Amino acid sequence: MKANIAILPGDGIGPEVIAAAVDVLADVARRHGHEFAFAEHAIGGIAIDTHGEPLPAATLAACKAADAVLLGAVGGPKWSDPKAPVRPEQGLLALRAGLGVYANLRPVSVHPRLAGLSPLKNEKLAGVDVLFVRELTGGAYFGAKTRSADTATDETRYTVAEIERVARRAFELARGRRRHVTSVDKANVMETSRLWRETITRIASDYPDVQLEHQLVDSMAMLLLTRPASYDVVVTENLFGDILTDEAAALAGSLGLLPSASLGEGRVGLYEPIHGSAPDIAGQGLANPLGAILSAALLLRHSLHLDAEAAAVEAAVESALASGELTRDLGGKAGTSDLAGSVRAALAAQR
Ligand code: ATP
Ligand code: MG
Repeated sequence: MKANIAILPGDGIGPEVIAAAVDVLADVARRHGHEFAFAEHAIGGIAIDTHGEPLPAATLAACKAADAVLLGAVGGPKWSDPKAPVRPEQGLLALRAGLGVYANLRPVSVHPRLAGLSPLKNEKLAGVDVLFVRELTGGAYFGAKTRSADTATDETRYTVAEIERVARRAFELARGRRRHVTSVDKANVMETSRLWRETITRIASDYPDVQLEHQLVDSMAMLLLTRPASYDVVVTENLFGDILTDEAAALAGSLGLLPSASLGEGRVGLYEPIHGSAPDIAGQGLANPLGAILSAALLLRHSLHLDAEAAAVEAAVESALASGELTRDLGGKAGTSDLAGSVRAALAAQR
């Protein structure tokens, strides 16, 4: 197949990990006879420097016209002055809004070789394989904000339509997995959560083959640590999802490993590793490229519908983790190109 992939390297380690992910995508194209065209565009701090704004109009237009967008990371000390008129992170928020991507998917699993990096003991971690589906464009982050001398408010607002679309996405995804959905809310206290629970329960009746469980967010924060292996798909609102996915990321051992996909009704998906620009190690060839490479695998699966190719990349990452040289965040001494090289070698060795 032919596909146009917009590449947004961004700041810090973004360009380093994205280069590795593009190499892997190019390998996949060569092996399977696809034509992927890659075009780079500016976003974040680098775009502020070169274009005076964190999301240049040309970048947004190119992303909307592409089949998928692969992003590195934005931000860094150079642009972090809170009084600056524009900030790199605004570019990312504007891109998500511009693409209308309301469902943020974050798979978290634990590789046996890395279990020692996790704060939990091995026996708790065996079989952890959770897919978080976080609502990304509603809730407290986007509600009205007020501020007076001694009072501040953040309105939390959800419509039935906003809950329905992310709920359907979660149930559909569960059908391709272990057919279990855990919906997380705070329905004992919050009105938005009561609407959330009612709506999810109603949508669930369209998916009788998928089992639905409700959890309150406070108990869920504990359950993720006490029995993480019992969860399949976890769907939740924006603020709760932000917190729970960072908690879950700690289970996997390193931020550098974890990918994400942000999907909407439109055809363009946005794919990025969950880590930031890591200014402390930028430019040194030390960054773990696996979060970016696994994001490329999600791109193959969710935007290009190339399931076999996505699984091949994930299997190559598994092999590299099992037997390859690891980067420093994973307890090894290898650099970005060494680890990316073992993934590519594993991919080439597949039948
Ligand atoms: P942001 O605000 O952009 O989300 P952050 O402050 O949450 O950034 P990161 O930039 O993700 O943080 O970095 C947190 C720590 O994790 C840093 O010490 C960084 O070096 C390390 N880190 C992040 N990503 C990677 C990676 N891909 N490989 C190795 N280490 C990483
Ligand atoms: Mg962060």
